[in-house]
Amino acid sequence: MKIKAQISMVMNLDKCIGCHTCSIACKNVWTNRQGAEYMYFNNVETKPGTGYPKHWENQAKWKGGWELKDGKLQLRSGSKSERLLKLFYHPEQPEMDDYYEPWTYDYESLLSSKRKKHQPVARPRSLITQKRMEIKWGPNWEDDLADGESVRQDINLKNMAGEITMEFHDLFMKYLPRVCNHCLNPACVAACPSGAIYKREEDGVVLVSQDGCRGWRHCIPACPYKKVYFNWKTNKAEKCIFCFPRLENGLPTICTDTCVGRLRYMGVLLYDMDKVKEAASEPEAGNIYHSVLDILLDPHDPAVIEAARKEGIPANWLEAAQHSPVYRLIKEWKIALPLHAEYRTLPMVWYVPPLSPITRRMEADVYLPEVHDMRIPLAYLAELFGAGNTGVVAQSLQKLLDMRLVMRCQETGEEIPQRLAEDVVVYKDMYRLLAIAKYKDRCNIPAGISAKSQDKLRELQGTCGYNCPGGC
Ligand code: SF4
Ligand code: SF4
Repeated sequence: MKIKAQISMVMNLDKCIGCHTCSIACKNVWTNRQGAEYMYFNNVETKPGTGYPKHWENQAKWKGGWELKDGKLQLRSGSKSERLLKLFYHPEQPEMDDYYEPWTYDYESLLSSKRKKHQPVARPRSLITQKRMEIKWGPNWEDDLADGESVRQDINLKNMAGEITMEFHDLFMKYLPRVCNHCLNPACVAACPSGAIYKREEDGVVLVSQDGCRGWRHCIPACPYKKVYFNWKTNKAEKCIFCFPRLENGLPTICTDTCVGRLRYMGVLLYDMDKVKEAASEPEAGNIYHSVLDILLDPHDPAVIEAARKEGIPANWLEAAQHSPVYRLIKEWKIALPLHAEYRTLPMVWYVPPLSPITRRMEADVYLPEVHDMRIPLAYLAELFGAGNTGVVAQSLQKLLDMRLVMRCQETGEEIPQRLAEDVVVYKDMYRLLAIAKYKDRCNIPAGISAKSQDKLRELQGTCGYNCPGGC
């Protein structure tokens, strides 16, 4: 057993209001510069929809992630030699049109306009060519099902069993915020011919070394989530850095910090690195979720604690793992699920699937729908979060419904159903974390600079590692 620590995130989709504050906060901090105009390390898309970039989930087109060939894991983009042949011509690269052509407006025409009969207009201008342009697509074009045509092209609708008509009475939607998943088995790292992308030892954050990157761009199609971008100004790849300078100071990512819905949770997970390959090679895609759960370790188990100490995981990280909100949501309660586990990269950003609107039925008191009756079809959610396995999504939704039922009984004084009576404490805890948790309960990031250097400094100084005023 080789124990590693991973900073992980869970998003509770029930609470996302699609305000895009997270995307804008991230944009202002990390990609507000030339060459990065079109990049959104964090984007929020409406589902159903084709997303950003268009059709990112269509791996037949982009050849992203891993597949099993004769029982062995192989990058979908081909073997090492096949990929080397594509060094100078790589047909599976997304183009500007697949993202969008970024633009600004001629604001000056508003400010300097002479007095006229008609109101002056600020016309759009391309941020790439500086020429006037007509806007035909954007990173959020399908917001709230705005473009019916592209909504119908969502590949998850095609793959799911059972028909949906997209008629008004059948319509459903939800928001899906996305960042890099800082995967345990990252396809971007495996595809990089220069070794410039790496997974950090101490916290599992996946980064691109800007010095090492040679601009071969193999990471871009290899990432099945399309979360690596090419900077046309610097000729280097860039991606979400999980706000590592903030993490090193015990703070969550900026998207988490600014999230209006307070739906993001961050914390430490411990996992067995020796079993990562085995988990990613699970033959049944619908079972990958279970194999990932198996490699996540119980931070309260004395054997795990002992082994983690031997691996050099610092005490404050072990403590954070024991109070990790993401561990509770993922492993303890099993209500958070990975996005498209079938890509086999073992993502470390997970989602609590959304309950569809709970309505009041005239003839009954308050009506909680059955899992199978919800407005968002179970089969659709299973395409996103269960690799087609409706069972794992149903299990998560059922727990969320049961939690609501327990809390409703609590409020109204109704009797709690017998089948839930034993777990009332668990459901109350779940409610506290999902509904009313404070900042420090939602985010438990071990403070200090990167764990290894922090320990080294402690060793050197015999104190806390800071020799400046305020250090101990
Ligand atoms: S989601 Fe992030 S870590 Fe995973 S393959 Fe894509 S870029 Fe790499
Ligand atoms: S800030 Fe939060 S609520 Fe708003 S879109 Fe982003 S994830 Fe959703």
